[in-house]
Amino acid sequence: MKRAVRSRRKVYGQLLKHARRQPHRECCGILAGQDGLITQAFPAKNVAADPVRNYEIAPKEIVRLMGELRKRRLEFLGIYHSHPNWLDTNEPSPKDIALACYSEKIYFIVTPRPYATTPIRAFSIRDGRAMELEIQVLP
Ligand SMILES: [Zn+2]
Repeated sequence: MKRAVRSRRKVYGQLLKHARRQPHRECCGILAGQDGLITQAFPAKNVAADPVRNYEIAPKEIVRLMGELRKRRLEFLGIYHSHPNWLDTNEPSPKDIALACYSEKIYFIVTPRPYATTPIRAFSIRDGRAMELEIQVLP
């Protein structure tokens, strides 16, 4: 059985909107919430040298976002990014796996493709391996 993560429906909408606003490049941000339930997404700037193929959040922005979470009493639960619409999967790329540095966090990968059957997929990435998680969407 897949381990499950819980997310508010609103977050789903936020991520799809963010990814579809710039479907030809990767978007990114962080996921936050309470008691393991993802209640909010915070978009971040993609500062990767090649944002069409990679994503990177500047360390300074991570620090700023962590301060924001503390202020709102939210937990840092994960990271999200999108794969551009010319890629047919929203699975972690070898690079996503190699660069994943939060083994306890959840990674959401979004596709901006309009008719994708699973527009958002969740993964746990640790020890160089990605494991897919089931997403339970709550109202
Ligand atoms: Zn990726």
